[in-house]
Amino acid sequence: MHDTYKHKGLRQQLVTLLKNKGITNDAVLNAIGKIPRHLFMDSGFLDHAYQDKAFPIAADQTISQPYTVAFQTELMEVNRGDKVLEIGTGSGYQTAVLCELGAKIYTIERQQELFKITSKFLPKLGYRAKKFIFGDGYKGWVEQAPYKSIIVTAGAPFVPKPLLAQLEIGGRLVIPVGENVQIMTLFVRTGLKAFEKTEFDEFRFVPLLEDKN
Ligand code: SAH
Repeated sequence: MHDTYKHKGLRQQLVTLLKNKGITNDAVLNAIGKIPRHLFMDSGFLDHAYQDKAFPIAADQTISQPYTVAFQTELMEVNRGDKVLEIGTGSGYQTAVLCELGAKIYTIERQQELFKITSKFLPKLGYRAKKFIFGDGYKGWVEQAPYKSIIVTAGAPFVPKPLLAQLEIGGRLVIPVGENVQIMTLFVRTGLKAFEKTEFDEFRFVPLLEDKN
C-alpha cells in the first residue's frame, strides 16, 4: 500500500482547507493530515481522495466528506482511552480518525460486504477497533455500554432511543437527524434522564437503514 510525498502534500492542503472552514481541534486536524484517505477508496479515484468531497464506496454507500468527518469528530471531544461507539463503519475512514485520537472503538456496519472488506482492511493500516460488529446500529451495542461518545455516520430519520440510553452521564451523541437533509445534532447526557440538545448546520448523508430482518 502506497503513500507518497505527493499524497502527503495533498493531505496538508486538505488540512489547510478544513482549518479555513472552521475546524480548530489540532488532534483532529493531525489525524486527517496523517491518514492515507486515498487507500480507503478505489485506486481509480486517487485524484478525488484529498478533495473535500464524499465519494462512492462498495454497497452503494459513501465515504463521508472530510469536513463532515472533522466536524463530527470535533463535536465528540474525544480523549485518549474514551470508549466510543460508531454506527456505520463504511470505509473505516472515520474509524481510523478515532483510532488516531486514541479511542477504544466499537463500530457497527449493517452491509455485510462493507463489514467484511473494512474489518480486514483497517488492521492492515495498523488501525484496530476493539470490535467490528455486523449488525443494526439502531440498537446500539448494549454489551459494552455505557459509552463516552457515540457517532452516527448515516442520516437518521429519528433519534434511536437505545443510543441515548447507552451514553454515560456526561457522554455525547453526535447524530445527523432528518430524511432528505440532516441537521447535525449533539446530545449531551447531563443526568440519568436529562439531555442537552444542540443543533448545528445541515448535512447530507446516506440513510440509516432499519434492520432487514
Ligand atoms: N463513516 C463512514 C460513512 C459511511 S456511509 C465512512 O466515512 O466511510 C454510512 C454507513 O452507514 C454505510 O456504510 C451504511 O451501510 C451504514 N449503515 C446504514 N444503516 C445502518 C445501520 N442501521 N446500522 C449500521 N450501519 C448502518
